Amino acid sequence: MASIRAIRGMTDLLPEQTAIWQYVEQAVAEVAASYAYQEIRFPIVEQTELFKRSIGEVTDIVEKEMYTFADRNGESLTLRPEGTASCVRACLQHGLLNQSAQRLWYQGPMFRYERPQKGRQRQFHQIGVETFGMASPDIDAEVILLSARLWQRLGIAEHVTLQINSIGSVDARVRYRQALVDFLSERIDLLDDDSQRRLDSNPLRILDSKNPETQALLDSAPDLLDFIDEESKTHFSQLRALLDAAGISYEINSRLVRGLDYYCKTVFEWVTDQLGAQGTVCAGGRYDGLVEQLGGKSTPAVGFALGMERLTLLIDAVSSVPTTVQDRIDAYLVAVGDSAVMEAGVELAETLRQGLPQLRLLMHCGGGSFKSQMKKADKSGAKVALILGEDELAVQQVSVKSLRTTDGQHSTDQRRVAFTVLCDDLSQVFNLKS
Ligand code: ATP
Ligand code: MG
Repeated sequence: MASIRAIRGMTDLLPEQTAIWQYVEQAVAEVAASYAYQEIRFPIVEQTELFKRSIGEVTDIVEKEMYTFADRNGESLTLRPEGTASCVRACLQHGLLNQSAQRLWYQGPMFRYERPQKGRQRQFHQIGVETFGMASPDIDAEVILLSARLWQRLGIAEHVTLQINSIGSVDARVRYRQALVDFLSERIDLLDDDSQRRLDSNPLRILDSKNPETQALLDSAPDLLDFIDEESKTHFSQLRALLDAAGISYEINSRLVRGLDYYCKTVFEWVTDQLGAQGTVCAGGRYDGLVEQLGGKSTPAVGFALGMERLTLLIDAVSSVPTTVQDRIDAYLVAVGDSAVMEAGVELAETLRQGLPQLRLLMHCGGGSFKSQMKKADKSGAKVALILGEDELAVQQVSVKSLRTTDGQHSTDQRRVAFTVLCDDLSQVFNLKS
C-alpha cells in the first residue's frame, strides 16, 4: 500500500527546524511586549463571507487561492488565508474597539492554494501585528519600528530593506485606477495574459508584475503619487519625518500597492535579495476602511504580517541561531540493577527535575546492559552520565561520570555524589538556578 504523505505545499517542521522557529517566536513575543502589544488568538476557520468582504472579491486570494469547503450543515467555510480579517472580526464581536485603542499581535498557520516553491507554501505561517483606533502617522511609524527592532534582534537588519509608499485615500485610488486603465488600455497588446486579465479585475496589481516588458511600459504610466490627496500626502511626509528621526532608512517605491483591497495611505514591505523571487519577508499598511466594511464603526487601523518560512530561511542564510535549550542534553541517567534500583532511578530523576527545572535530563528507558546504556549516554551528547547501580543505591550515592570536557574532548573523570546533595552539585556543574 502506498504510504500516506503530507499534502503538497504543507510541510512538517522537524526537531532540527523547530529550534529556529522557537527562537523567532520568542523574539517576537519579547519585542511585541516591549511595545506593549497584546497577543490575540482566533480560529483557523471562518465563514467564507468574512474573507470575501474584507480581502475583496477580485483579489488573487479570493479568486483562486482560498481553501473553501461546505461543512456538514452546508455552510461555506474557509481556512483563513490571512489574519487581518479574523482579527477585525474578533475585535468587533467582542467589543474591543469600543473604548480604547488596541495594539495586538498574533501568530499561526494561514492557507492559500498557491504553487509551492521555496518561500511559498499552501500552509504557511504568519506573525501579524494590528493596531486600531489611531489615525495619525506616529502609529504607522511605531509598527514599522517594531518590525525593525525585530530584524535587529534576529541579526538580519543588514539584509532587509524597507520600501514604503502611499496609495492615498480610496477616492484618490479610484481616480488613479481610471488613469492607469486608460493608459494601459491603449497599449493592451503589450501586456501579457495575466496583466490583460487584471486590467478589468484589479488593474493596480499590474504594477506588481514581474514581467520586465510590463515594468518598462509602466515607466511612462501615470504616477500614483500625482493622484494622492492632500491629507494622505501630509500623512506620508509626517511618517517619513518620523522614520528619519528614528534613523530608519527606507526607499520610496511608487509601484508598491499591495494586493489586497483594504489598504489606504501607508503601505510598506521589508524585502531581501537573499531569497530569490520570494523576497518579501514582511508586508503591511494602513486599512482605515476595513472595520466599517465589516460592520463596525469607522476605525483607523494599521498593521503588518511577516512570513515565518521566509524569515527563518533568511536567518538560516545570513545569521546564526544560538544553540537553544532544545538541542542540548545535560545529563543522561543510567540505571542498571533490580527493581529497587529502577524505582530509585525514577525517583532521583523526578527529584532533579523538581529541583533543577532548567536541567536537560534524559532518563534511559528500555533497560539493557551497563555498557549499552553508557554507549547511548555518550551518543546523546550529554555532558555527564549519572550512574545508579546496586552498589550506588546501597550507599545512597550516584556516580557522576563526565563524558566530555567543556571543549568537547573525551573525559574519564568520575566521582561519587550523595543523593542528598546531587541537586546542588549539578546546579554548580551546569551553572543553573535551582
Ligand atoms: P507575495 O507577493 O509573496 O505573494 P502577499 O502580498 O500575498 O505576498 P501578504 O498577504 O501580504 O503576502 O502576506 C504577508 C507575508 O506573508 C508575505 O510578505 C510573505 O512573507 C508571507 N507569505 C504570503 N504568502 C505566503 C505563502 N504562500 N507561503 C509563505 N509565505 C507567504
Ligand atoms: Mg500572494
